[in-house]
Amino acid sequence: MTKKKLSTDMERLNKFTEELHKWRDRLWLGKWRFNVVLSEGAVDPENERVVARITPRPRYYHATFTVGPSLWDQSPEDQDRIALHEICHLLVTDMCAYVEDVVEELPTDQRNFACERWQEVHEKTASDLETIFWNRAPS
Ligand SMILES: [Zn+2]
Repeated sequence: MTKKKLSTDMERLNKFTEELHKWRDRLWLGKWRFNVVLSEGAVDPENERVVARITPRPRYYHATFTVGPSLWDQSPEDQDRIALHEICHLLVTDMCAYVEDVVEELPTDQRNFACERWQEVHEKTASDLETIFWNRAPS
């Protein structure tokens, strides 16, 4: 990795981090603290469309965001919207914790189905919230 590429990556990562903080503050989630890390490869090798991922730890109001280099292929506006999308996941962390507790109580043969359905519902909810805030947010 050249020094120039490293500095470009850091600048891009800093800009994305600023966007995450902007959306955090606009959505009244100021308690949360973040780590933002750049993945060397794909964020999700099974789905190349995934360019960023959040790992929240709600008990500590802390989240780690992992972004892949393909995030930089997105337009600046799309990067901003992706930051909003990831922040929207924070709005459903308590529901996630509840569902995970309930899934643990299910018979083993039902857990996969419940987890897959929850992942779909969770992702759709985050996307719906993103759409609402993106279209209603003051400029
Ligand atoms: Zn998502």
